[in-house]
Amino acid sequence: MIDKVPTPTANKLTAVKGMNDLLPPDSATVEWLEAKVRGLMARFAYRNIRTPIVERTPLFVRGLGEVTDIVEKEMYCFDDRLNGDPLTLRPEATAGVVRAAIEHSLLYDGGKRLYYMGPMFRHERPQKGRYRQFDQIGAEALGFPGADVDAELILMATALWAEIGLTDVRLELNSLGQPPERLAHRQALIAYLEQNIALLDEEARRRLHSNPLRILDTKNPHMQSLVNAAPKLLDFLGEASLAHFSTLKAILDANGVAYTVNPRLVRGMDYYNLTVFEFTTDRLGSQGTVCAGGRYDYLFEQLGGKPTPAIGWALGVDRVLELAKTAGRLGTAAPLDAYAIVTDVAAMPMVLSTLQALRNSGISVQMHASSADGMGSMKSQFKRADTSGARYALIFGTDEVASQQVTVKPLRDAGTAQVTRSLADLAAWAPTLQSCV
Ligand code: ATP
Ligand code: MG
Repeated sequence: MIDKVPTPTANKLTAVKGMNDLLPPDSATVEWLEAKVRGLMARFAYRNIRTPIVERTPLFVRGLGEVTDIVEKEMYCFDDRLNGDPLTLRPEATAGVVRAAIEHSLLYDGGKRLYYMGPMFRHERPQKGRYRQFDQIGAEALGFPGADVDAELILMATALWAEIGLTDVRLELNSLGQPPERLAHRQALIAYLEQNIALLDEEARRRLHSNPLRILDTKNPHMQSLVNAAPKLLDFLGEASLAHFSTLKAILDANGVAYTVNPRLVRGMDYYNLTVFEFTTDRLGSQGTVCAGGRYDYLFEQLGGKPTPAIGWALGVDRVLELAKTAGRLGTAAPLDAYAIVTDVAAMPMVLSTLQALRNSGISVQMHASSADGMGSMKSQFKRADTSGARYALIFGTDEVASQQVTVKPLRDAGTAQVTRSLADLAAWAPTLQSCV
């Protein structure tokens, strides 16, 4: 129901800034990555969850924290025009996954390992590697308190980098400890920052008392030496938190996973505790974080559920693909097996049933579609067949159609002769269309 048509700002209807169309052949690279991820998740026993793209706004305000970049300035919020409910396009998926887990008592019979893929929305300044609609792939392990699961998630990400051929990815680790440890650190940090108030930028001053930890995450180059010398959270951790961190590091060491401990690593959302980590690269300029995650043992309670330990990560699909591209490892669409060339439109019923049989036996085949004045010349059809990338042309000429046959002509190897095949024994020769020419 559109009761008021908004005044157009331009005559042309174009995509919204920062929200990109993904066109073929580029879309094949995303499908390639998604297929790799599906296989990987299955091998690690993570199962797919699909939550809505629109959630109630308070989910993110309560889940991510009021004083975060996302909630303060990046969310696409709107009121449901019929009942006025405040709604938001999801800026990330963890809050929605936890909401769904609580709503459906998903953990009634124990922990759950889940993964998702899909679009997220953040009103940021669009630039390379940073968009307003972007795809994330994420994994969440719900209901497991131990550092072994932290390690499992990190190992799963490193297995993905290996599988898609990424070598220039570094792992940075930190522990944010538990709330009382963070509180003690927070007090020391505020005292330190107050002593240096003259060196803080406007945003840092605003966050000094509301979210001082986030000041350590500043991208302002003038504040780097100040934050480098700030009290470190790692120095405030108690025995249990340190033990959790050491267990994780020992498992990573045993698996030959290299990492650096970055005591300044904090994450953009408030919900993290203990383990936090990021996979970064130097190859993508300032948008160098390809995957990030951490433990969020208090998020269930914050969203009205029972206390439930949990941890997860999310990767930026655009950044991972860009990196795979620089490494020359980007997957592409599978080549087309065959292109059907037809001289007479009257043969179409027979042609389509032949193509149907071929497709049922796993052959990919593109049909030359008729136009208003028929099928077009053989020459133009062969041209299309060539640009389609197909390895074979299937020629349904007058003679072939009359004798219930088809001529199979290799398009990629001039030295190989064409053969005429009988449609009656299609099942026998169909597989040869998939063998290399
Ligand atoms: P950044 O510091 O780059 O803003 P972030 O901490 O906001 O990242 P997360 O919320 O942890 O990012 O999201 C996980 C991953 O999703 C990031 O590491 C990145 O690869 C990707 N990502 C985040 N925001 C965007 C965006 N606007 N466009 C494209 N990818 C993004
Ligand atoms: Mg961000």
